[in-house]
Amino acid sequence: MRRKTQKRKIMKIKHDMHTHTTYSHGKNTIAEMVEQARQIGLTAITISDHGRSHPVFGVKKENFAKMRAEIDVLNKKYDDIDIYLSVESNIIGANGNIDIGEEEKKYCDWISAGYHYGYIPASIKDIFVFSLPNYAARVLPFLKKYVVRMNTRTYIKMMKRYNIKLITHPGDKIPIDVDAVAKVAAENDVILEINPRHDHLNAEEIKIAMKYPVNFAINSDAHTRQALGDMRDTPQIIKDAGIPISRIVNIEE
Ligand SMILES: [Zn+2]
Ligand SMILES: [Zn+2]
Repeated sequence: MRRKTQKRKIMKIKHDMHTHTTYSHGKNTIAEMVEQARQIGLTAITISDHGRSHPVFGVKKENFAKMRAEIDVLNKKYDDIDIYLSVESNIIGANGNIDIGEEEKKYCDWISAGYHYGYIPASIKDIFVFSLPNYAARVLPFLKKYVVRMNTRTYIKMMKRYNIKLITHPGDKIPIDVDAVAKVAAENDVILEINPRHDHLNAEEIKIAMKYPVNFAINSDAHTRQALGDMRDTPQIIKDAGIPISRIVNIEE
């Protein structure tokens, strides 16, 4: 009997919306990342280095003009790829503060935001009510309920205060109520990221978020050119979550 040849569908990132370069702690330049993106057939790439309030990794504010100029030159040079400038801004305070100033607004095409360790908090108060409790909750389980409530409020305030397009690795590094965050993300047209380098969102959390008409993106969060477009185990995660590919804005099959 002849075996039916079945074409296996391969999932692929079209637009990698979250990538790092030497402007923060990536290993490759913008030009090298764009070259790699063209080689692996991406139709678009967004350069999104870390926000300014990180003392080691943060993009210095004077570099946004330089990054914009480099990207403008590359966009003129290549007609097979679109290159965007963004920033992975840091959530730095319980009021939903992120480290966005005029340079980011002026030069970036769009803004993403996520929680990271080691940032400089928005205020002295935030050290005590936001940063320290989140560190402490990792070893003191009784604090978990408190920080989940606070972090969820923080994410929601952030989405209402700022025009952000995407939340990177939601709930990673600090716990959140995914249900409440996804509801407000849907209302404010904010994309939730599925990130192969981080544990959240996981399949269970995607299932919860899917109840709302929120969109998702899978991004590599590449810090080297080799990692660009690399989805690692996310195809399995989205299969386990049962999410239709149409809900993921930057993927093709
Ligand atoms: Zn991140
Ligand atoms: Zn990142």
